[in-house]
Amino acid sequence: MKITAPHLGNVYIAAKALFDGLGIEYIMPPMNNKEALEIGSLYSPEEICLPYKIMIGNYIQAIEKGADTVILPGSCGPCRFGKYAEMQMNLFNKIGKDLNFIVIDAPTDIGIKELYSRVNQISKNSRRRKIRQVGALIRAVKVMNLIDEIEEKAHYLAGYEVIKGECKRLLNSCKRDVLNTNNPRDMIGILEEYKRKLDSVKIDKDKNPIKIAIIGEIYTIIEPFSNLYIEDKLMDYGVSTKRRLTPSWWVKDTLLKPTKLNSLEIKRSASKYLSIGVGGHGRECIGEAVLAQKEGFDGAIQIFPLGCMPEIVSKAILPTISKEKDFPIMSLVVDEMTGEAGFVTRVEAFIDLLERRRKNVLSRS
Ligand code: SF4
Repeated sequence: MKITAPHLGNVYIAAKALFDGLGIEYIMPPMNNKEALEIGSLYSPEEICLPYKIMIGNYIQAIEKGADTVILPGSCGPCRFGKYAEMQMNLFNKIGKDLNFIVIDAPTDIGIKELYSRVNQISKNSRRRKIRQVGALIRAVKVMNLIDEIEEKAHYLAGYEVIKGECKRLLNSCKRDVLNTNNPRDMIGILEEYKRKLDSVKIDKDKNPIKIAIIGEIYTIIEPFSNLYIEDKLMDYGVSTKRRLTPSWWVKDTLLKPTKLNSLEIKRSASKYLSIGVGGHGRECIGEAVLAQKEGFDGAIQIFPLGCMPEIVSKAILPTISKEKDFPIMSLVVDEMTGEAGFVTRVEAFIDLLERRRKNVLSRS
């Protein structure tokens, strides 16, 4: 069995830790790129959302490297994601490519027995004893939490760094170095080392950088290629950013969902404007916008793929929040036709607006 999984932010790092720990071959698709999107667009229905197309590109590029099995997380509500697995299986049948899918759905949807049998399809290929398999899983979760923490810290500290570009340089070399070992314990050691390095980055506490919350559809905000590397660009501009939705957040949220204790703060914050789930993470987007304003951020940028149903609902609500709370929010829609120049111009104009608002407030006081 040669396993692959679509790219979803830093998940590839945790997936490598897991499969190295289990002793199962993991074929990582090339990092998301234009070619993957072109291949994906060629095989996908035109009107389907961007994540689907990029995922198809990932699978085909991974098949070329020898992958025969895809692991895919299950649905997150009444949007197209719930149909991804079925549509992707049908597509590969139709084009005659032999690819086995293992869909990891929530036990509330498929039952514990079925979930166990699907997980068993993976674990039976590991020669490690059960106890070591559990250890591999625990270490993979630790890797995921660490890389998400490091990324969050780097994105926020970039606004305060004394040596311009230091946080970005550390983040990039961390992601590179952690892939250079096949030992999950070493991966954890490397990540802890980088966490310490970030903690000792020289910062200027008197700086008061522009702070922007990144909100919107989970795939698009987590996967840098799909958002034209917006967080990297904001680091270059010396802007501090915060994004609550991460792969580790997603795992915690999914595990807690059956108890209804998941993301309470976000749900509470959203309740005045949107009290029910609308699929995807539409409700979270609203809650995060409210929280960002409360936490003193200067503004928020919502990013979502063209035609994303849950985020269209959120987009319709965000202007009310913006008006009521005097909080600037910009929405950016991305698809395979999005041009970088126009995208960058809008981001720069938004930063300009936030800076001018700051100056106006200062001159009035
Ligand atoms: S949340 Fe939006 S982009 Fe993501 S699968 Fe659902 S409809 Fe598509």
